[in-house]
Parts: sequence; structure tokens; C-alpha cells
Amino acid sequence: APGVVDAVARALRHADGVRRLQVRANADTPEDAARARRFGAQGIGLCRTEHMFLGERRKLVEQMILAHDETARAQALDALLPLQREDFAGILAAMDGLPVTIRLLDPPLHEFLPDRTGLAVRIATAEARGERPDPHDTELLDAVGRMHEENPMLGLRGVRLGLVVPGLVAMQVRAIAEAVVQRIRAGGSPKAEIMVPLVGAVEELRIEREEVERVLAEVSEETGVAVSCPVGTMIELPRAALTAGKIAEQAEFFSFGTNDLTQTTWGFSRDDVEAAFFSAYLDKGIFATSPFETLDRDGVGRLVRIAVDEGRAARPGLKIGVCGEHGGDPDSVHFFHTAGLDYVSCSPFRIPVARLEAGRAALYGTETSDSR
Ligand code: PEP
Ligand code: MG
Repeated sequence: APGVVDAVARALRHADGVRRLQVRANADTPEDAARARRFGAQGIGLCRTEHMFLGERRKLVEQMILAHDETARAQALDALLPLQREDFAGILAAMDGLPVTIRLLDPPLHEFLPDRTGLAVRIATAEARGERPDPHDTELLDAVGRMHEENPMLGLRGVRLGLVVPGLVAMQVRAIAEAVVQRIRAGGSPKAEIMVPLVGAVEELRIEREEVERVLAEVSEETGVAVSCPVGTMIELPRAALTAGKIAEQAEFFSFGTNDLTQTTWGFSRDDVEAAFFSAYLDKGIFATSPFETLDRDGVGRLVRIAVDEGRAARPGLKIGVCGEHGGDPDSVHFFHTAGLDYVSCSPFRIPVARLEAGRAALYGTETSDSR
């Protein structure tokens, strides 16, 4: 009904007028970025680059990760570079003038590598027919076997992948920098930010950051266009939260990854737990709502507050956001307001709710049950 639409629009305007939290979107395609903008997003808080490596690009990714000769790896990276440049150029165009936080690759390895059983079956079938198995299959099975992990979510992910696979970070950063140059030359105002995932130790960030700065300088030099992007990190491991003061020395911004932070604080698998025992836990009242939906203030929230305090003590004015699912949950948005965050980032469809709740928190923040 038009009356309701008007009332919502009025409420949103009112909320926007009073809220202190900015609201960004999690988006990783130009279409999602454009949709997010229509919903009122003030930037992209999380552009996940994982999906950009699936589909037809999978072969290149296998080659990049598994190659044991550097020429093959370099070829894969060379082929990925222009594709990534176009990915980023599209998103920066859709969000022109607003910040776009691009996260370096963070897939659990099992989502990328070919399935061992499938390969083994193919090889066995060929042998049973008396044929010679495809040597590529045999080689691949070997390589995948070497990289197999029982717990991929706790394995070679995030910054670890960047530190272990030569050339990966340089390729992604070059693609970002070249997309920025392309936009600037076209008269746009790209505001790319580079985010390092799954950091647990400042040393990881320091090494990764040096590589990022080196490539930004290289592209600036080559093109004659000065490219500077803030470099920040996700805070999504308890150790990152507990050493946030040190990490802040190497980070221009923090973004809480509360999905992983919830998983690693509770020791619950974010992929398996819901089916396994959550309903029993809800029935028994061990928690009122899933901690993956509503931020657990006492545990995970405590880590958030520690990281905010220590991060800002080390680097006054440090920009801090959240980009886990909790960024679009009203109760959690309220918490992030009181914890002093600068922005929440959520899926495009949750933006209006986040805007309203951020406004409500600014107006009535002290009247809620939230306690420090
Ligand atoms: C998170 O862990 O909260 C996060 C935003 O990263 P992802 O969900 O991609 O692991
Ligand atoms: Mg994460």
C-alpha cells in the first residue's frame, strides 16, 4: 500500500538523519553493487573475490595452486589478471565515489580443488578398461592428495594462501590497481580498499602488506597515475582480536568477520553445526537464537570490544566495521553501534533494516538491555 511505502521512506530518512553507523553492502558483482546502491548502501564493506575464481576459471586456479613448475603458475596468473581487472573495474564503476573494500582471496581449499574420489574413479575406470589413464588426472590426483586437509576451514585459507602461493597477491593487487587507473582515466572516482583475510598474527599482515604496497608502487610508476589504497584486515580469529593493538600498527582499517569469529570462539563449525545439534541447544535454552544470526555479546562481543579498544589505542581514529552476517541483524547492529564501530556491512536486501536499526540505536541506544 502506498501509505506504508511512504511511512517506510519517511522512517528511513529520519534514521539516516540521526544514525552514526554507516551502512555498506556485501557485494561481489556489479549487479549486486548497483542494487545495494539503490537500497542506500554507502559503499561496499566486503567484496568477496572467491566466486570470481570458479566456473570456467577453475582450471586456471588449479594450475595456479597446484603447479609445481613456476612457468605453469605464471601462465595461470597471467591469464587470470585481465579477468580480475574487469571484475574490479565493473564493481568500482557501479560504486563510483564510494569506498569498495576488496578482500584478497579466501576460499577453503576443498571448494577449489578437484574432488579426489572423482579423479580416482576416472583413473580406475581407465585402468579397468586396459587403457592408460590420462596423465593429467594422475598428476592432479597426486597434487590434490598432497594438499588434502581434514579441516579445510582451519587450513590453507585467507592470508595463509596469499603467503604460500607465489604471485597470487601480486596478481590480485595489480588487477585492483589497474582497474583503479582505468577508472581514473575515464574520469571516475574509484575508492578501492584492500583487505587481508584471516589474519591471526601481525607478522602475516606485515609481509602481505609489503607485497601490496610494492605492487601499488609498481603500477603507479608504470602508468604515471598515483594509486593509493588503504590496506586493512579482517578481525575474525580470537588471536587477532586479542592482539589487535599490534595488528593496528599494520592496518588502516579493521573489519570484523563475525562468521568466522563466532565459529572459532565457540569452536562450532559454521557449515555443519546447525543440522547437528543447534535445534537441541535452542530447545534446551542454551541459547535463545543462533549465535551465527545474533551476535553473542558475552563472548564474541567481548572480543569485539577488546579489539576496538586496543586497535584505537594503538591507532587513534582507526576505521572499524563489520562484514559478517551479523551486520544485517537488528540486535547485532544495535550492539555494533554501542561498541563504537563506524559501519556495518550486510547483504543488499538487509540494508534498509540496518539503516533503521542504526537510527534507532542512535536515538534510544542507552534504553536497551545492552550493557558494557
Ligand atoms: C566472516 O567470517 O564473517 C566473513 C565476513 O568472511 P566469510 O564469511 O567470507 O568467511
Ligand atoms: Mg571469514
